[in-house]
Amino acid sequence: MQIARSKAECGTNKKLNALLLHMLQAVVFDMDGVLYRGSMAIPGVAGEISRLKRHVQVLFLTNNATKSRADYVRHLSEFGIIAHASEVMTSSFGCAHYVRENFGRGKKVFVIGEQGLRDEMEIETGAKLVDGWGAKIVVVGLDRQVTYAKLEAATRNLAAGAAFILANNDPTLPKEHGYAPGSGAIASVLTVATGRKPDVVVGKPSTYLIGKLLEMHHVKASQAAFVGDRLEIDMRMANKAGMKSVLVLTGVAKRGDVAKAQKSDKPDIVLSSAAKVGKALGIY
Ligand SMILES: [Mg+2]
Repeated sequence: MQIARSKAECGTNKKLNALLLHMLQAVVFDMDGVLYRGSMAIPGVAGEISRLKRHVQVLFLTNNATKSRADYVRHLSEFGIIAHASEVMTSSFGCAHYVRENFGRGKKVFVIGEQGLRDEMEIETGAKLVDGWGAKIVVVGLDRQVTYAKLEAATRNLAAGAAFILANNDPTLPKEHGYAPGSGAIASVLTVATGRKPDVVVGKPSTYLIGKLLEMHHVKASQAAFVGDRLEIDMRMANKAGMKSVLVLTGVAKRGDVAKAQKSDKPDIVLSSAAKVGKALGIY
């Protein structure tokens, strides 16, 4: 009887350990299409994030390279979401982190990109941003003021052997009425001109950004969920990283798209909105 009880206890402990091992420690949110759409907050999401914070680590990740992490902290606060810069990962910060990790500080960098990317490069890597010729590294992100002169300088630097770092390969930028060219489209000009592909793409669906964010917060991918609105970008990255993948229908993907998605892009869970994440993930 004694032995039987011990065995039963042992089994319970094993189950408990297995449960703890798979218990979620963090929920990572994509931003546009998940927390808000353009300038419109998605109802109930800010409240849900406050509740989640009492149970798990809440983190934020975006492919957008036009803003710095500090910009996003301000942006999120406009929607009633409180975040610290260390809880936010952007592809602008990701590019800077990659440069610092692989090339060190104080390098000459040519940037096609907006202020957020330039700020992160200077703050995080102490980069000397050059206007034209002579850069060792070319970093490319979305640049809504891109000019032929900038593309020419980037081409010259790349042709001379500079490293080629791309913030994200998004072909398009969703707009209120249709699409505009994304940073992937800008990079394609350089790819055609130089015959070179980027040495690294830090943004989703690459797992570089999420890997760094989870590493910084000491969270294993198997103990984290990612909430996003795009199948071939967000769900692909989450599945590749080994996270629980949660698709919300407040952004790009529609319910009918899920059945048509390839296996690598299928979500584990589909929700009408991120306001329902905590219950759906069994957090409370
Ligand atoms: Mg999105």
